[in-house]
Amino acid sequence: MINVFLFVLGAIVGSFLNVVGLRWDLLRHGGVLSTLGGRSSCPSCRKVLEWYELIPIFSFLILRGRCLSCGGKISWQYPIVELWTGLIFATVPYIFIPVFCVYIVITIYDLRHKIIPNPLVYSAILLSLTIPLFFIHYTLLDWFSGPILFAFFASIWFLSRGRAMGFGDAKLGLSVGLLLGASQGFSAIVLAFWIGALGSLAYLFLNKIDFLKNTKRLTMKSEIPFAPFIVVGAWMSLMFHLNIFHVALF
Ligand SMILES: [Zn+2]
Repeated sequence: MINVFLFVLGAIVGSFLNVVGLRWDLLRHGGVLSTLGGRSSCPSCRKVLEWYELIPIFSFLILRGRCLSCGGKISWQYPIVELWTGLIFATVPYIFIPVFCVYIVITIYDLRHKIIPNPLVYSAILLSLTIPLFFIHYTLLDWFSGPILFAFFASIWFLSRGRAMGFGDAKLGLSVGLLLGASQGFSAIVLAFWIGALGSLAYLFLNKIDFLKNTKRLTMKSEIPFAPFIVVGAWMSLMFHLNIFHVALF
């Protein structure tokens, strides 16, 4: 029952995070109230949406992804982020929720702009630093896992001259290491590379057989945002208590 409540709460927060992620640039230059204060409107016809058009996940499904007034298409991003935030709220320990909210905004922004805004990733690092205070069993390696992951991503960034990985990914790696400690933090990154590789292959394949119509063509040379994979890896590692050291022993 408590999980259902957390899921619903998460879905509501998710619809807010959608707006924060999409309007991040406006938010930085226009102030919080003027950007987030107004009620949501349809991106095509600008009609202000009614409350029944704003119910997380459900409105999108019932209206079949279209605006009630003009029939304009509504992005799949909205229900997916709402669903995902709901699942995160229901599956991670409470103290991890704030940092994951920041991670979700980073994911939304990185998918669109292929860059991680500094204020977001610095907030994530600060929030991650508070987590070890709750866990007295943090080992020395746990404390160092953040800097180790930072150095790992920073060297990929340096050696590929920023082509394979952005410097923002290194800062995000620092946050994940601080947040999850060594075993789950390293597991998260290994998982991120696996999901990233499989996801990219699936994307290239679907592109090849023309399954994805009207979307931007992606080739091996295209920049693929990596932050979403890091965030999904961190979530799964935390949710399933992954421990790469156990796997390595077998
Ligand atoms: Zn409309």
